[in-house]
Amino acid sequence: MRVEEDAILTCSTCGVEGEHELLYLSDHLRASRCRSCGATGVYSPHIYADYARDVAERTARLPMRLAGEAIRRPTHLLLWPWKALRKPFGLLDEVGRVYTFDRDRRCRTRAAVRRVRSS
Ligand SMILES: [Zn+2]
Repeated sequence: MRVEEDAILTCSTCGVEGEHELLYLSDHLRASRCRSCGATGVYSPHIYADYARDVAERTARLPMRLAGEAIRRPTHLLLWPWKALRKPFGLLDEVGRVYTFDRDRRCRTRAAVRRVRSS
């Protein structure tokens, strides 16, 4: 999972060229949010499944990454217990970010439906 915080794009909703948040899962763009108007696009019908796949891929690469780190910086082995303790909180934070993109998209979709119905 990667979130690009300050991508400069032109929003298709408000038309402003400005900062957007971009959410990448497994190196694929899955969601975006305009910092100007909050318009959120989710480009996957199964964003939580995509997140689970992203975590599984990272987990599969973990042994090689840790082995490489142990060879390059053996003293960092001392930090592994601390990193392991913090990992669940990091994953919770990631799930929260994915949920926020999904919630914002659903809220904006409902608001758009209400506007159409009331007009
Ligand atoms: Zn916008």
